[in-house]
Amino acid sequence: MPEDRLPRRDRSALAAAEPALPASMWHATAGAPIAAPALTTDASTEVLVIGGGFNGLTAALRLAECGTDALLVEAGEIGEGASGRNAGMVNPGQFLGPDEIRKVLGADHGEVFLRELGAAPALVADLIDRHRIDCHADFRPVIRAAHDAASAAMLSAQTGQWAALGQPVEMVRGAELRALTGSNRWEAAMLDRRGFTIQPLAYARGLARAAQRAGARLAQRMPVTGLVRENGLWRAQVRGCVTLRARKVILATNAYTGALHPAFAQTLVTSGAFGVATQPLDTAARAMVLPQGHSLYDTHKIPLFFRYDPEGRLMVGSLGFLGDGRRGPEAWAARALARLWPGLPDPGWSHVWQGTLGLTSHGMPRLISPEDGLIGTIGCNGRGIAPNSYFGAMLADIAMGRDGPRPLPLEPAAPRPARAMRRAALDLGMRIYRNTTLLT
Ligand SMILES: Cc1cc2nc3c(=O)[nH]c(=O)nc-3n(C[C@H](O)[C@H](O)[C@H](O)COP(=O)(O)OP(=O)(O)OC[C@H]3O[C@@H](n4cnc5c(N)ncnc54)[C@H](O)[C@@H]3O)c2cc1C
Repeated sequence: MPEDRLPRRDRSALAAAEPALPASMWHATAGAPIAAPALTTDASTEVLVIGGGFNGLTAALRLAECGTDALLVEAGEIGEGASGRNAGMVNPGQFLGPDEIRKVLGADHGEVFLRELGAAPALVADLIDRHRIDCHADFRPVIRAAHDAASAAMLSAQTGQWAALGQPVEMVRGAELRALTGSNRWEAAMLDRRGFTIQPLAYARGLARAAQRAGARLAQRMPVTGLVRENGLWRAQVRGCVTLRARKVILATNAYTGALHPAFAQTLVTSGAFGVATQPLDTAARAMVLPQGHSLYDTHKIPLFFRYDPEGRLMVGSLGFLGDGRRGPEAWAARALARLWPGLPDPGWSHVWQGTLGLTSHGMPRLISPEDGLIGTIGCNGRGIAPNSYFGAMLADIAMGRDGPRPLPLEPAAPRPARAMRRAALDLGMRIYRNTTLLT
């Protein structure tokens, strides 16, 4: 759907990259929205969680399960940020491999990160199971495909590093790879048996219901516009003059933090990611594209990713903000499909949407506590379902003063210089890469 045919709300989101819940392909199958009305009077709580994505929701759930009074406020709807807009591939860890992770985090944090985040997809599966979340979990492993020989060597090295840690990953090549992908354009692939796919908006809503059942208060349409510490308490001002007071604050606003807190916002350069969904593919087309129903992302610097929804729509996605002019995102997605699966008939298109991502300087999330009683993890670098489900519970534990594994060092701040310039350069670079390298 070209931008000029998107509903007005989505068009403004494309232009300003603001949080507005676009009609992604997830809406049709996400079930009923959450009932969590905005507060109309001032309130106090032990822990205030700001942001209703995976990070904030798992924090609120953990707090409530531990009997700690928790109030979560979300500027829009639950799942309105990246959590309700992503590709739903539940992957462990990060894009980096184990050796690079150890280099970035140091040996101690690195080992904890590899152990804890390697198991984070299982944690998501456990949350889904324990709270009976109907989010179409599909446990077929995720494929990471190498687009050239150098990437195949890189993937092979990463696979060896994960396997040395006892993780269920393997390389596939040749006929086996073609049978999985239906394409002969990839050199080799890593099959990650820890990974699986979910319906991300349904998962976010399921977490919200679980948190409510456990006793957390959730309130939507509550944009926090000011956050100050006063007399040993945090005071959060919500647009429309409601005031919230809390002993601790978990800031779970990630790439949507905006001006709310400079130490968090300055940690990130923000960028986009998007999805373009086909109409449900017929049997013949499904037999051509990922015929066994797996999800796939590749090794390009700006990766391409593909997955089906339960109705057989194929999501084609990549990084960067949309705005590809008159040709439109569908034309781009059609070219990407034609390159990988030549002969695939025009599938017709159903949805176009995008979200905002936060990129840190070292490509890993950061654990930030710039002031007493204020804490958050920030910067998913495109990988946030499993990690942020883990980090939410970890933040709750820290807020409650509980011990536990700490995969990330605690930092007061980690500002990235020249953010606006970097963002503009990145945006342009991604757009060029997407329209050249990815399509040739
Ligand atoms: C198109 C796309 C595809 C992706 N694919 C994958 C994938 O396949 N696998 C994967 O692991 N990750 C993927 N990601 C990344 C993943 O979605 C994110 O890392 C993750 O959802 C971040 O969760 P979060 O809770 O930290 O932040 P978010 O979900 O962004 O939540 C932050 C929330 O804070 C709210 N907020 C902001 N400011 C305020 C305020 N002042 N007051 C109140 N509320 C506020 C926002 O409205 C928002 O709902 C993808 C992202 C995108 C955009």
